Amino acid sequence: MTLPPDLPVVDHHCHLSPNGEGVAAARRFRKAGGTHLFLATQAYAPGPITTLAGYESQFETTERLSQTILREAGVVVYNVVAPYPVDLIAAGELIGVPAARDLHRAALDLAGHWVREGRAVALGEVGRPHFPTSPEVRAAADEVFVHALEVGRDVGCPVVIHSEDLDPEAVRELARLARSVEFPAGRLVKHYQRRLFPPDLVGTAVPSYLARRELCDESLGSPGSWFWETDFLDDPRRPGAVLDIETVPRRARAVAERTPDLIERLQIPFVKSVESVYGFRPDPAEAVPD
Ligand SMILES: [Zn+2]
Repeated sequence: MTLPPDLPVVDHHCHLSPNGEGVAAARRFRKAGGTHLFLATQAYAPGPITTLAGYESQFETTERLSQTILREAGVVVYNVVAPYPVDLIAAGELIGVPAARDLHRAALDLAGHWVREGRAVALGEVGRPHFPTSPEVRAAADEVFVHALEVGRDVGCPVVIHSEDLDPEAVRELARLARSVEFPAGRLVKHYQRRLFPPDLVGTAVPSYLARRELCDESLGSPGSWFWETDFLDDPRRPGAVLDIETVPRRARAVAERTPDLIERLQIPFVKSVESVYGFRPDPAEAVPD
C-alpha cells in the first residue's frame, strides 16, 4: 500500500540553517514524501546573542528560510520561535545574569508578538538548561520559563519544551507548573521525548516522539495527542547527532508498506494532534513549489 495523497506527512521538530544544508535538506524531505515541517529557530551565528535586535534578526532568518523552502522545495514550514534556554548561560557571562534574564523575557514577548501576527505558530524551544548550572542561572532560567508559559497562555499558543529526559514524575511536575499559571495541558508540548508516555500521563502534556523505529511503532497504538519528530540539526559539524530529515516520511511509508491497517493511525501525528494542539489543519495541497 502507499500513503493516501490527502495525508500530510509532518515532522514536528527540526532545525535548518542557511549555513548548513538548508533548502536542500527540505528538498530531500519532500522527495521522501514529507509535506510539512515545524521549524524551530536557532542561533545561526557563533557567539551568544546579547540584544533584543539580535533575537529579532534570528527569527527573521528563520522566517526567510521558511519562505524560501515553500517556494523552492514545496514544503510548508511552521515557525517556532523563542530564545534558546541554554543561551541564557553564555549571555549571562557577558552581560550579567539579571540582564540576560531580562533579555530572554523580552525575546519571549517578541516571540509572542510573532505568534499574534501569524509569523510563528508556537513558542519554542523553552524550558531549562538540561544540565546542572549555578543557583543564580537556575533561578533566572526558572523565571524565564514561567514567563514563557505566561506569554503562551496570554497569546493562546502552544509552548514547546526542551528539557532533560523526563521521568513520569517530572512530567507531572511540569504539568503542575503549567497549571499554576493556568497554561493549558493540551498545548504543553514535550519535544524530544524518547520514551513512550504511559497511559496515566495522557493529558498531562503532549509528547513529540523522536522518530526512532521502535518508538514510532509503539506510539501508533497510544491514546491522546502525540507527534513524530527528528530534531534534525542541520549542523555539518555534528552529522548523525540526531535523526536525518527523511526519517518521518520513511517511517510513514514503512507503516503503509508493512502494516496498512494502521495507516489510519497516522492521522494522529499528522492531522488530529496538529488540529488539537495548534488549531489548524495541515493540507498537502499547500505543499507545492512555485
Ligand atoms: Zn530542537
